[in-house]
Amino acid sequence: GKPSETDLTMEQGEAKRYYQSRLSLVRDQQGQVLGKTILLIDITQQLALLARMREVAATDELTGIANRRHFLAMGNLEIGRAQRYGHAVSVAFLDLDLFKKINDVYGHTVGDKMLCHVARLCQSNVRTIDIFARYGGEEVVLLFPETPPHAAVHAAERLRTTIANTPLRLDNAEIRVTVSLGIAGTERLGRMGLADLVDLADQALARAKASGRNRVVMIQASQQ
Ligand code: GH3
Ligand code: MG
Ligand code: MG
Repeated sequence: GKPSETDLTMEQGEAKRYYQSRLSLVRDQQGQVLGKTILLIDITQQLALLARMREVAATDELTGIANRRHFLAMGNLEIGRAQRYGHAVSVAFLDLDLFKKINDVYGHTVGDKMLCHVARLCQSNVRTIDIFARYGGEEVVLLFPETPPHAAVHAAERLRTTIANTPLRLDNAEIRVTVSLGIAGTERLGRMGLADLVDLADQALARAKASGRNRVVMIQASQQ
């Protein structure tokens, strides 16, 4: 909850409580003001619930990273900025290689663990300003602000090798997975929108898959 949404905050040690205040005048029958009343409504719980709802709406249930909705909202803000100032921006699409096989061989539960594993590796290997989310089943989308395509390729390569070299450790097995990444980016963003960049990154991903997987392919986003 944000204190700015409330009129009053009271601290009791660690615990904060938020109140909405309503001021009203008390008048006599002639309309003369006799005094004022202040009503304090404790809205601490409502604010906590609202914050929780916002969090749930932005989070992917399985992996705990952001979901597509959150990515699009944050990504569009970033793209708007980049368009206005003609700044660099890159988008990457990551897809697990032959993931169906992992589900088939080890079962869906292990497949889910693998998705969480990869999400965690993404989390710890991108910068805090980068926006990333689970886009679909076994796909992660990333947006690198102020990042020209060649630098995004560098970041993607680092992520790719980290994932390839970090197996998922289970009680009785170590499972390796590789990922393919498609990148679309530009030195100076013009009119292209987020959807265009995501589409282009998806095309680059298709090329990475077609040319053997476990690799990064970049397409320069040409600007009109
Ligand atoms: P490719 O290298 O071409 O991407 O091969 P692939 O097997 O990864 O490709 P495909 O897109 O055919 O398979 C994706 C699989 O991801 C199929 C689907 O069952 C699985 N999947 C999607 N969402 C989930 C999920 O939430 N949990 C688990 N365990 N599997 C999922
Ligand atoms: Mg796949
Ligand atoms: Mg896929």
